[in-house]
Amino acid sequence: MSTTWATKKLSGWGRYPVVESRCTRPERRSELFDALKDRGDRPLLAHGLGRSYGDAALIEDGAVVLTRRLDRFLDFDPETGWLRCESGVSIGELIEVFLPRGWFPPVVPGTQFVTVGGAIGCNIHGKNHGHSGCFCDHVRRIELLCADGEIVTCGPDENPDLFWATVGGMGLTGLILSADLQLYPVDSPAIEMESVRFENLDHFFEVSSESKDYFHSVAWIDCVQSGRRMGRGIFMRGRHAPREATGELEPGIVAAIAESAKQFADGRPFRSNHLLNKATIRLFNEVYFRRHRPGMERSIVSYEPFFFPLDAVNHWNYIYGDRGFLQYQVVVPHREAMRHILEMVTSSGMASFLAVIKEFGDRDHGGLSFPCAGTTLALDFPNYGRPLFELLDRLDDAVVAAGGRVYLGKDARLSRQNFRKMYPQWERWKSVRDEWDPKHVFQSDLSRRLGLT
Ligand SMILES: Cc1cc2nc3c(=O)[nH]c(=O)nc-3n(C[C@H](O)[C@H](O)[C@H](O)COP(=O)(O)OP(=O)(O)OC[C@H]3O[C@@H](n4cnc5c(N)ncnc54)[C@H](O)[C@@H]3O)c2cc1C
Repeated sequence: MSTTWATKKLSGWGRYPVVESRCTRPERRSELFDALKDRGDRPLLAHGLGRSYGDAALIEDGAVVLTRRLDRFLDFDPETGWLRCESGVSIGELIEVFLPRGWFPPVVPGTQFVTVGGAIGCNIHGKNHGHSGCFCDHVRRIELLCADGEIVTCGPDENPDLFWATVGGMGLTGLILSADLQLYPVDSPAIEMESVRFENLDHFFEVSSESKDYFHSVAWIDCVQSGRRMGRGIFMRGRHAPREATGELEPGIVAAIAESAKQFADGRPFRSNHLLNKATIRLFNEVYFRRHRPGMERSIVSYEPFFFPLDAVNHWNYIYGDRGFLQYQVVVPHREAMRHILEMVTSSGMASFLAVIKEFGDRDHGGLSFPCAGTTLALDFPNYGRPLFELLDRLDDAVVAAGGRVYLGKDARLSRQNFRKMYPQWERWKSVRDEWDPKHVFQSDLSRRLGLT
């Protein structure tokens, strides 16, 4: 059967850039083979839930496979927690089905609206990088539809070069059909959480060092304050609560917790190019910081506000207005480099609405994978236009000088030159990729911009 294509406008979560592509939404594997054949000479790319921020899941005028209907659970071993599922299954669906049975995904990002294919494509990290590494550390087998139409299985022990090029490979080695994923056992859906207010960047590093035993940790940081308050914020650390803290782990309890944490608002009515400006961002930061008393607070919360606080507002990305926004996430190996970056941001006068800081563990998977030892900072900037792009170029130079890198899953504008310095293993990655896709069937706007395809 021939493929049904529809022309659609697509963007990443930052709503910048927006491009038009020919899209198809297959439900079965056979339709994927058809799509590969019927794409004509257009390049092909998988698009999951579009939660990468920039152009990693976009290909202008290309052929896009929307993977969300490839959402079947294929096999599960209740003794070991090994799950085989299709790549369009979302993290939220995994939790909905397996948390009532006492299992949780090994690594989750800041939203549950990402697919397993997207989690592998960006080799995502969570709040537990120091303890659990990245998503790929819990994947033992991937089925990949390659450019020549063959299904190839790969894993750390089978076609390992292809496996390591595919994890974090931004969809450029083929279409991930299914993955074998290790879930981990939890006693309850609740999290024992502690939040600690820190007064500046040095204080953040102190609290972070004291928190290494906590399984999950992350901090919100105020990126408006300069001087001795620069880098103040709230540190959050936690672990799944034991059963006795929340009662029996019954589906009813999980459902009740999920119900209480359901999305309660929609960002679209607040869509405006002017709502988030320097004054409102400064005000938000002040109020958010002051809401927390100095010192530490303890609570037991549902997993949702702990792991996915922004999911409570549906379409929150619309509040940045039609110009969209850019997320800029970097990792730098030294604390002084992070201080320098924060100084550049605060002195630019360009305010970041939401900023998150965290120390990674030391696992680095090479290739195009982002996490490595150091401190990561993620900033959300309204699309201020040219002044912002110039600031980000200067920040890139500082990141390169410090031996750090920008997260490609969040990127929409990094230059080819700086990319090559940040990811020195790119040539090795490209040679593996080109071996499996010599005609460059799989491409994205990101891969073209960075000279990868
Ligand atoms: C609020 C929010 C919080 C976030 N927090 C984090 C975080 O804490 N840590 C983190 O690492 N990331 C985080 N992210 C980014 C997000 O986890 C990743 O971008 C993830 O890849 C998105 O998954 P997706 O299904 O939306 O993939 P998409 O954005 O659709 O695609 C991402 C990439 O994966 C490829 N891809 C998707 N499906 C397949 C497939 N089946 N086969 C081959 N390639 C595929 C695409 O081609 C693309 O290159 C966050 C994003 C948001 C919006």
